Amino acid sequence: MTRRSGGPAVAVIGGGIVGLATAAYLAEGGARVTLYEREAIAAGASGRNSGVVQHPFDPALVPLYHETVTSYRRLAVVAPGAAFALPSEPAGLLLASHHRRVAEALAAHLWIVVPDLEPEILDSAELRALEPALANDLHAVRVPVAYPVVPAAPTYAWANHAERVGVTIRLGRAATPHVTRGRATGVDVDGRLEAADAVVVAAGPWTPALIDPSGRWRPIRPLWGVVVETLLADPPRHVIEEASMDVALGITDLSAAAGGEPVDSAETPETSIVTAGGATAVGSTFLEQEPDPAAWTERILRRAATFVPAVADAPIRETRACARPLAADGRPLVGAVPWVDGLFICSGHGPWGITTGPASARQVADAVLGLGNGGAAAIPAAFDPGRFGIPDEPRQDA
Ligand SMILES: Cc1cc2nc3c(=O)[nH]c(=O)nc-3n(C[C@H](O)[C@H](O)[C@H](O)COP(=O)(O)OP(=O)(O)OC[C@H]3O[C@@H](n4cnc5c(N)ncnc54)[C@H](O)[C@@H]3O)c2cc1C
Repeated sequence: MTRRSGGPAVAVIGGGIVGLATAAYLAEGGARVTLYEREAIAAGASGRNSGVVQHPFDPALVPLYHETVTSYRRLAVVAPGAAFALPSEPAGLLLASHHRRVAEALAAHLWIVVPDLEPEILDSAELRALEPALANDLHAVRVPVAYPVVPAAPTYAWANHAERVGVTIRLGRAATPHVTRGRATGVDVDGRLEAADAVVVAAGPWTPALIDPSGRWRPIRPLWGVVVETLLADPPRHVIEEASMDVALGITDLSAAAGGEPVDSAETPETSIVTAGGATAVGSTFLEQEPDPAAWTERILRRAATFVPAVADAPIRETRACARPLAADGRPLVGAVPWVDGLFICSGHGPWGITTGPASARQVADAVLGLGNGGAAAIPAAFDPGRFGIPDEPRQDA
């Protein structure tokens, strides 16, 4: 389906889940949209993640999660054949530890931030009855969340839908916002200006460099993860995560907080195990520098095998690395860039872009189109792109 409209011309930079969903929402709203991707659809984390649509446990992000789940269900109706099927029920999440006190500390924390999920502690016997694949020395918090998906499937579904609603997708094209006298007038591509009324940058960890080439404004940084995709014969039905997933939970170090050994995330993988589409994604690392994935395979599997012993012998399909676009406060930057008219940002979803990205894409699309309850005003202050200061006046507290 190609839509003809006299709406604004909008350039979107980035062919990950956020850029593609943004482009689709803009086109649905009547804009003439061109999306530029320097490599291929889902070339970044959007195609290489662990594959779980998961409750983010941060109250500011929870509405994005619920809207994103609804958006996936809508895609299955409006774009049948092109979309993937989100499981009808969550698989359930087991936050597991070898130490009961860690499970207890985590359960206490979750009862404060998400009491409606009624997290329960399971001891090793209960766990083994529930999931025979698990090691026999574990304790876990069970939360009724987590939809496993084939990691790239949501992004391809948005790409298919974007094309159906008339988005022009240009692959292998690196684009840079073209700014003249404080206003974005289009994008520079292959040394030429391609004019647009507005530009949205959704380029994952590479977003700040496109917004502020001076290098002063860097509220989003890459946090690299390695995932080993295995063919585990009898995988757990639940999503398994190590209970010290401090990045996800916003706790500095749960293990140390509970009196255990501090976890050095630069050296030690933190286990996650997600099965969808016949493959089991075993992760992951949280690294500041781009890693050599092969150098991490053995360490990731060794640690994961302390949770699911069969992982040690599972055939490996591939090992891959990708970068989480992590904002300094863990929340995305969504909306108008305060110091350039016509320039918008949607990035910084960190470990949860498949879970929250599409809903924030809808928000930034509404802001570009001036829709919603007051347009940009409808975007929560927690996602304000100006909260880390502007390049000329960096805030001390950013
Ligand atoms: C190991 C790992 C596991 C994860 N697991 C999960 C999970 O289970 N659930 C979940 O919700 N999230 C998960 N995430 C996070 C999620 O993958 C990301 O938050 C999300 O994919 C970010 O999407 P994005 O579109 O913002 O960025 P990206 O996917 O990085 O896309 C940005 C795109 O922009 C392109 N680009 C960059 N510069 C330019 C330019 N100048 N011109 C044109 N194109 C450009 C890049 O090539 C790239 O394709 C995981 C991340 C990692 C690293």
